[in-house]
Amino acid sequence: MVADREMGLEPPPLSQSTLDYLQAGATQHHTLEDLRRFIGDCTRCKLWRGRTKLVFGEGSSEADLVFVGEAPGREEDLAGRPFVGEAGRLLTRIIENGMGLTRDEVYICNVVKCRPPKNRDPEADEIGACIPFLKKQIELINPQVICILGRVAGQELLGKDLKITWERGIWHSFMDIPVMPTYHPAYILRNPSAKRQVWEDIQKVMKHLGLEVNKNG
Ligand code: URA
Repeated sequence: MVADREMGLEPPPLSQSTLDYLQAGATQHHTLEDLRRFIGDCTRCKLWRGRTKLVFGEGSSEADLVFVGEAPGREEDLAGRPFVGEAGRLLTRIIENGMGLTRDEVYICNVVKCRPPKNRDPEADEIGACIPFLKKQIELINPQVICILGRVAGQELLGKDLKITWERGIWHSFMDIPVMPTYHPAYILRNPSAKRQVWEDIQKVMKHLGLEVNKNG
């Protein structure tokens, strides 16, 4: 083996994220709990160094609707739960007051499971290490609709050139599941006029799920 390596006869090593992807796919995770156990006390990318708690995702394993955000923020990192800060409270109001559902009836998760320092955008290697687990979560839940929250999740799931301002409110597809991209709740907090557009997008999701739309939001 050493001689092979010295002579350059060995295949090039696979990156850690490729190994994890193969492992995640090859290992039979039958439930979200299995997958959570597999992820463990993750050190697959550099984000583990700054995190307090890994934020796996939460909600119903049989949800018809999955929300995908970007990455945990400060409060999520401390709580180990997605969307529990100010933007999260707005998302909760959209789910409860707008859609007439509870957080327990949907599933909420992120593109990456650990908080990036100073809430910067997650980097390519971090997303590469984590996205196989998001895909597995979606595969296990097999929802009727995915609602993407914001540019970062949109570009990861739908393509790097996605412009959220142009493509929100339009049906897309990911893993053969209908996808509705909309603005991130944090964007609504900074730009309250965007609330109307988000409500229009959410109404499309509700119609797709056969939920009664209360026009007042
Ligand atoms: N923003 C996100 O994208 N995800 C969270 O969990 C919290 C804030």
